[in-house]
Amino acid sequence: MTDYVIPQPPQATLAVAGSSQKFPVRRIWCVGRNYEEHIKEMGHDVRDPPFFFAKPSDAVVADGATIAYPSLTKDCHHEVELVVAMKSGGRNIKADKALDHVYGYGVGIDLTRRDLQIASRKKERPWEVGKAFDNSAPCGPLVPAAKVKDPNKGRIFLKNNGTVKQDGDLAQMIWNVQEIIEKLSEMVELAAGDIIMTGTPAGVAACVPGDKLECEIEGIGKMSVSIGPAAK
Ligand code: MN
Repeated sequence: MTDYVIPQPPQATLAVAGSSQKFPVRRIWCVGRNYEEHIKEMGHDVRDPPFFFAKPSDAVVADGATIAYPSLTKDCHHEVELVVAMKSGGRNIKADKALDHVYGYGVGIDLTRRDLQIASRKKERPWEVGKAFDNSAPCGPLVPAAKVKDPNKGRIFLKNNGTVKQDGDLAQMIWNVQEIIEKLSEMVELAAGDIIMTGTPAGVAACVPGDKLECEIEGIGKMSVSIGPAAK
């Protein structure tokens, strides 16, 4: 065993539906602007290609957890998304081979400090302050790919305190799962443990302490996360 000079950080993991085994998370990649209606609500041109940003692996939060309201923001938004978990990877993966590299799928939330994201966008600064903060990637249990009929089809929705806020279908993704993997693998070498958040349908909105966010993708599963008071 390697002798480290500080305690080794814990491995970030995701639950697997119906199993006691965990999925180890290596990196979190996210797709920007992958649903037309969400692009319009954010005031952008739908003809722009999607792009990628990242979150740290330890941003994952398990189903059912309560997280502190994030620091610095007054406008923390929920973005419900399909999560794709890789069991293998490579460079320049072609779309027609891409699904061979997928371990499974889940539903997650790309929590976003919208005010800080927009401020950094205006200043042409990086997005980390808006996207890559602690607990910014709640994610439900993964369902092995063999049990998912079609990862590019199915209702995806999010309720806040019982009211439906986001409601779409995976079929509305501008770039489907295979195409996302193809594009991303041109930018970086993908590997087992990488997860990809694939973009959000319309209806993003602010959440506040006391809110309970419940999400579901038909045929894939559910997850919920509660927002607690800000950390002291
Ligand atoms: Mn997103």
